[in-house]
Order: sequence, then C-alpha cells, then structure tokens
Amino acid sequence: MDEHSCMVDVARYFMEFCMSESCGKCVPCRVGTAEMYELLSRIVQGRANSADMALLQELCEVVKYTSLCGLGQAAPNPVLSTIKYFEPEYLAHIVDHVCPAGQCQFEAVIQEVQS
Ligand code: SF4
Repeated sequence: MDEHSCMVDVARYFMEFCMSESCGKCVPCRVGTAEMYELLSRIVQGRANSADMALLQELCEVVKYTSLCGLGQAAPNPVLSTIKYFEPEYLAHIVDHVCPAGQCQFEAVIQEVQS
C-alpha cells in the first residue's frame, strides 16, 4: 500500500473477507459484518453521510465486543485503525465526494445530482 491506496477501500476489502468467512452462528458477526460492508460501500461510492459514519463506528464497537469468536471480534479492527489514522480520507469521501487516492468512482452520485 502507498499513497495511491484508498484506506476506506482497504477497510472494505478486509470487511468483505470477514463477511464471507463468518459462519453465521452469532448475530453481531453475521449481520454486523454485512452492515459494515454496506456502509463502507456507501462511503467509497460517495453515497454516505455523517450519520452513516457514526453508525459505522457504533457497529464496530458492538461487533467487536459481542461477537462469539475471534473472527467477529477482529473484523472491525481494519475499520477502527483506518478511521484512527486516516479519518480525513473518510471525511473527504463523505463531505466532498472525493477520493484522495483517486481510486473510488462517484458516478452514482454524479448521475443522481444531474437527474
Ligand atoms: S463471531 Fe465467530 S461464531 Fe460468531 S458468526 Fe462470526 S465466525 Fe461465527
């Protein structure tokens, strides 16, 4: 990874892995990873707002502390770490609809604004 890596998309990549590997036994992991993946997708697509960001952070805490095993307990870590060290990248996607790394496409938002 370097300055051309979008840290939100990196978090989404790891969340997709955790979501697909979840065995589904407990709700926080089964539902939480899917919800966090959806929220991260909304951010990289430029469709998220500040409430989505707050919900994402809240979900991270819930899933981290209520999942039954290490997979669910660790699933939020890439999100929490990237928010901790790269929060301006998250805010650029949400507020300015810009990906500082130049990786994310925002056609959906642009098309909505034009229609
Ligand atoms: S936290 Fe563990 S037990 Fe719970 S759904 Fe995820 S993988 Fe299964």
